[in-house]
Amino acid sequence: MKYALVTGGSRGLGRAVCLKLSQMGIPVLINYQSNEAAAQEVKEMILAQGGEASLIRFDVGNQDEVNAALDQWEAEHQEDYIAYLVNNAGIRRDNVMFMMPDQDWHSVLNTTLNGFFYVTRRLLPKMMMRRHGGRIVNMASLSGLKGMAGQVNYSAAKAGLIGATKALAQEAAARNVTVNAVAPGFIETDMTKDLPQDELKNLVPMKRFGKPEEVAALVGFLCSDEAAYITGEVVSINGGLY
Ligand code: NAP
Repeated sequence: MKYALVTGGSRGLGRAVCLKLSQMGIPVLINYQSNEAAAQEVKEMILAQGGEASLIRFDVGNQDEVNAALDQWEAEHQEDYIAYLVNNAGIRRDNVMFMMPDQDWHSVLNTTLNGFFYVTRRLLPKMMMRRHGGRIVNMASLSGLKGMAGQVNYSAAKAGLIGATKALAQEAAARNVTVNAVAPGFIETDMTKDLPQDELKNLVPMKRFGKPEEVAALVGFLCSDEAAYITGEVVSINGGLY
């Protein structure tokens, strides 16, 4: 059986992606770092809509935790493999660069870039061996495309993730594995709840923040059979804000 793993699936965009993939008939592994109650809630929502889901806890930026959790899952699922990977876990630690503490630089890069590397490298061999149309979707950001003041760390991490997406797409294409990135603008989640939405939405041509379900629909499409010939692409979803 082919499973999906959504990192940071407990809240926000990841949660909407878990629900979407489940609606597409895919059993979902909901990864989270610390908020087990939120992850459990997503699982219950999926079960209530007739889907299949389980929780898998690890910090994407901690290689030992990633390997231990995925080793255990594979040992318990000898006939199954993870064919859909959504690298969604991410954090923001905004500050102007001249005041940015080392920790805020390293933690943002660690979660986004090392997280992508540890989880994806661990799952790639099986995905490529099976040649059954593996799908990797990386959650980038408008910040990684245009650069955002106050987010040098976050912009660097997301721009790096976009470069990695394009390079890995070329490595994996011959094995029928597609690798794409999604670049959301402002989306209503916990990550943006401290931002002045009334002010910022005026910058968006559509005059509103996006909804997690709108991003999830795009991720769902990139994971579908219909998207089999799309790879190495970065798809913006931002209400016209560039
Ligand atoms: P969110 O509401 O803050 O949720 C973050 C999720 O990531 C949570 O499920 C959290 O788990 C998980 N997480 C954080 N660090 C982790 C780690 N080290 N290991 C495993 N899981 C971890 O964020 P969001 O707005 O949904 O953002 C999701 C992704 O979209 C991020 O990559 C973000 O950069 C990107 N993005 C968001 C926006 C936006 O406007 N919201 C725009 C562009 C891009 P716990 O629940 O356990 O804490």
